[in-house]
Amino acid sequence: MLKRIHFLLLSIFLTLSSLLFPWSGHESYTYLVVKSLNLNLDKLVEIRPYTYKETRVYNTKYYYTDDFAGQRKFFDPLNDGKFPPDPSPVDGKLPAWQILTIYAQFPDFGMDEELNLSPLQSLIGNSQGVRHMRYKLGLIEAFEGDKSFLYFVDISKEAFAKGDEYWGYRFLSYALHYMEDLFQPYHETPGTFWEVVRSLMDKKTKNLLNNAHYAYDNYLVYLIHYSKHSEEVRKLIINTPKRRIPSNYEALINEVMMYGYSRFPEVHKHIKAAMGDILIERVPTIDDYQKLEAEGKLDRLYKVTKEIIVVMTGTIKAFLEDYLTTYAQK
Ligand SMILES: [Zn+2]
Repeated sequence: MLKRIHFLLLSIFLTLSSLLFPWSGHESYTYLVVKSLNLNLDKLVEIRPYTYKETRVYNTKYYYTDDFAGQRKFFDPLNDGKFPPDPSPVDGKLPAWQILTIYAQFPDFGMDEELNLSPLQSLIGNSQGVRHMRYKLGLIEAFEGDKSFLYFVDISKEAFAKGDEYWGYRFLSYALHYMEDLFQPYHETPGTFWEVVRSLMDKKTKNLLNNAHYAYDNYLVYLIHYSKHSEEVRKLIINTPKRRIPSNYEALINEVMMYGYSRFPEVHKHIKAAMGDILIERVPTIDDYQKLEAEGKLDRLYKVTKEIIVVMTGTIKAFLEDYLTTYAQK
């Protein structure tokens, strides 16, 4: 019986996660992080061909291996058109910061979709969630966002070790994507246990949980580009110092998941309080956010999100400094 209930719950939360959106604005956020580091990331890196034998399967239609610099090919549609910069390569070379920036959104553009990744596949319409999230719901744990991070860290190391800086930075940028995803609490759980149970019978609850996930995905990019706090948020990302992190990357990504999970109750409570009625209907628009913000209804959500941004940014800065000084810039 217990097994059956688990199976049932698993089906529900897999269905809930089947319409996935990214923790949007990976490139805008990563740009602010990497530009504020003092790690010689202005250095020019020669674009090199892809020569890797990978152990993961992808939707190869979207696993592009050519370089996109200067094409704005994968920029978030919410981008304001000016930021972050994406200049064309000069003499076949790009600055390291640009590689880290423009490829941070890349894993969301189809490479992990429509795959057969596990027996859970029959329950899920979209395999992307398997790679980008790590769910904890009651006794159930599922998905492999943590493994995705570690995988790309390893292959980035391999590239740097053979002197291929271009792919070293590019794979590292993919790794950052998965770490950023795991700081988004809705990548750890879709709702409270009882909400998930209720969503079985109640479409309103189901919609609310789905849309809450997307709403928080979009909130970061809203804060960076459209909020009255945008200036403050950008400064916060730039000025946040690195924090202490475990030197073992497996322990590190574990800590990130536990952190995301631990912030879920507050984020979820404030999102529901601020936009519960909207969430039953749809994902909030930029206008919705601006209206709610002007009315002061996002104040609590903003406060918690700033705390998450500080921990996420301090962690990523510490990781990049440790990683790059150890593996990239010997
Ligand atoms: Zn993602």
